[in-house]
Amino acid sequence: MILKNGLVLIENRIEPLDIEILQGKISRIGKNLIGPEEIDISGKYVAPGAIDPHTHFNIDVGVLSCDDFESGSIAAACGGTTTIIDHPGFGPSGCSLMYMPEKYLKYGERSYIDYGLHGVAQEFNINTYGELRALKSMGINSFKVYLTYTYKQDDKSLLEFFALAKELNMVVAVHCENHEAIEHLRNRFKRENKLSPIYHSYSRPGDVEAEGISRVVRLAKVVEYDKLYLVHVSSKEALREISILRKDGCKFFVETCTQYLYLDNRNYLLEDGVKYILSPPLREREDIKILWEGIKKGEIDTIGTDHCSFYLEDKNRGKEDFTLCPNGIPGVEERNLILFSEVLNGKLSVEKYINLVALNSAKIFKMDGQKGSIEVGKDGDLVVFTPENWTLTDDMVHSKCGYSVFNGKRLSCRVDKTILRGKIIVDEGCFVGQNPEGRFIKGEN
Ligand SMILES: [Zn+2]
Repeated sequence: MILKNGLVLIENRIEPLDIEILQGKISRIGKNLIGPEEIDISGKYVAPGAIDPHTHFNIDVGVLSCDDFESGSIAAACGGTTTIIDHPGFGPSGCSLMYMPEKYLKYGERSYIDYGLHGVAQEFNINTYGELRALKSMGINSFKVYLTYTYKQDDKSLLEFFALAKELNMVVAVHCENHEAIEHLRNRFKRENKLSPIYHSYSRPGDVEAEGISRVVRLAKVVEYDKLYLVHVSSKEALREISILRKDGCKFFVETCTQYLYLDNRNYLLEDGVKYILSPPLREREDIKILWEGIKKGEIDTIGTDHCSFYLEDKNRGKEDFTLCPNGIPGVEERNLILFSEVLNGKLSVEKYINLVALNSAKIFKMDGQKGSIEVGKDGDLVVFTPENWTLTDDMVHSKCGYSVFNGKRLSCRVDKTILRGKIIVDEGCFVGQNPEGRFIKGEN
């Protein structure tokens, strides 16, 4: 296959070029390429297939999320995402670190796009070292620890996990929110009967996140571990902390998510405010401004989605009491459409866009030998965008939940084609994948 005359995003520029894909790999990039199957895409843009480093397909949080690897990967593909790295939920108490990833490898057989997996830490114990090694030999280079929820880690366990991750050269992803502070506020709001959706955001203020970040990053520094990955950073307090920590010589990676760059907590006051309940919560307009400044300054490495979708009827369990609402929102499809629109609008440079939606995730999670940019020898994972102004609506998204938290957003592009290892799986904006041919991508060593 040769894509002819596309406007190709390479490094820091957009250049009219042809791209040839042979046997799933990009084989040539140049001008006037000739071959048997030529597709003319004049006037359209070609970007690397996006990588979403943070999704939750098939997750069970007491309520089952509505997107599995099938519907989730179709939604991702329709937004030009060709690889996701999924975070499995917690397994049964006492299960090994391989238990959930093994289960998810089965789920992944239904994926239409490529996928990697993160591990998930529960209890630190005598078996942990061996299990982390086993995880790594499965091709999983990262695992997540939580500072809140059932399997929150205390400082002692965090230090142990970081020390082992250092030895095994693994990435530790951390959900940073101070558990006790959240519990304190939730209990107070319960006592005062303040249970409408806005109190969800008041129960998890930015200080709760900033405290968690400061603690884990400094603990990591104590054991000279420099591969921490802070998931879904959302607040101005966190960003300020991050810049101080970096000045103090701490090394770590920072992820934010699309919703924190566009949506604020006024959404919780809407009639359907319960739809927007996720953790960390949506913040103020000021936080959005600070996050974009963080992107400009290079403080943020990746933009993921934390896609964790629920049917509205399940979200509505929290309508009268936010503590009963399953946390999470959809977004795996919208992210790349929104962010490539920002390239066309001049808000994001080509280089930043490629780094934030694809290349940095590939590098951090060690799949950049195959993924993340348009280069000869890498997988033929591409997205072809048509420039066009339109308004996103609920009925256009492919998540089974049937709504978008970005309903009404103006966009400047549409996905024309999504190509996974040389196969067209979205064509003229329609999903055309025949079989779930997504592969499990092992992290390189
Ligand atoms: Zn998450």
